Amino acid sequence: RQAQYKRLRDKPTVTLDGTDVTLQLNAGLLVDLPSMNDAGAAGVGLFRTELQFMVASSFPRMKEQQTLYSKVLDEAGDKPVTFRSLDIGGDKVLPYMRLAQEENPAMGWRAIRFGLDRPGLLRTQIRALLHAGANRSMRIMFPMIADVDEFRRAKDYVERELKHLRQHGHPTPEELKLGVMVEVPGLLWQLEELYQEVDFVSVGSNDLFQFFNAVDRGNTLVADRFDTLHPGFLRALKHIVDVGDRMDVPVTLCGELAGQPLSAMALLGLGYRSLSMSPSAIGPVKAMLRSLDLTKFKEAFLPKLETGHTPENMRQYLADFAAEH
Ligand code: PEP
Ligand code: MG
Repeated sequence: RQAQYKRLRDKPTVTLDGTDVTLQLNAGLLVDLPSMNDAGAAGVGLFRTELQFMVASSFPRMKEQQTLYSKVLDEAGDKPVTFRSLDIGGDKVLPYMRLAQEENPAMGWRAIRFGLDRPGLLRTQIRALLHAGANRSMRIMFPMIADVDEFRRAKDYVERELKHLRQHGHPTPEELKLGVMVEVPGLLWQLEELYQEVDFVSVGSNDLFQFFNAVDRGNTLVADRFDTLHPGFLRALKHIVDVGDRMDVPVTLCGELAGQPLSAMALLGLGYRSLSMSPSAIGPVKAMLRSLDLTKFKEAFLPKLETGHTPENMRQYLADFAAEH
């Protein structure tokens, strides 16, 4: 298998019937970067910046952050990198940061909430990112956005940092794209407003699924209670990409779903054309899509989604389709 995936590396990422798909890599440390070329990924779809913070013994300084981001961009060369601003809190704890105990940390003071309430940390990170991205293309996205206004506030910090850099004669990114992680269900009812303001979005299906069904993703007693291929959840995912297509906003999906070939097939059927996943998933997903007649699959699959094919049967249905084709 490994040899087979290696051979696929330089083959086009296109379905049997000619639809181009973009497969990118999820990364968090510099050591992840070589996988990009090894796996033939088109870029880094999700760079989890909190990893640097999690392995450190104190808050990384601005310069240290900047150094990491510069190296990541150097390694990536011409390929795009989407940096996600700090997503700490919830399941991601920093040993050196004393936070009050929370009843429900996943739904508590985390990610962008924390960033907006303690803007010093967010602004330092933004400054480090903008420095690293000087004279290059830069993509930044914000996690756990629940309300369009949170994005506006985060964007405002970016603009202030840009202004600061210019005033001090520092070079700034040649091109800057700002996006949002869609991982809080409430955002699904604000997509029109959101899409008017963002350059792109990326679906965090891990958190979205957790909040969609109110099941703690890390709690083994409940984590497997619902299937990620449940028609209800798939409809929600379809809505996100449908509105994106209609409003011309690029939509990627970067949760674990993207890296499971069967789920990735379902995502292509829903309309996703850009997925980001762990390095080892790229080969299997590429092998799947290169043998998929997407037109045929969509014709069979989408009606099933609308008529509410029973949740228990959806995974089986997809597995059967995959086996037969
Ligand atoms: C997600 O929630 O799907 C996601 C990609 O982010 P993380 O797993 O880092 O929360
Ligand atoms: Mg998440």
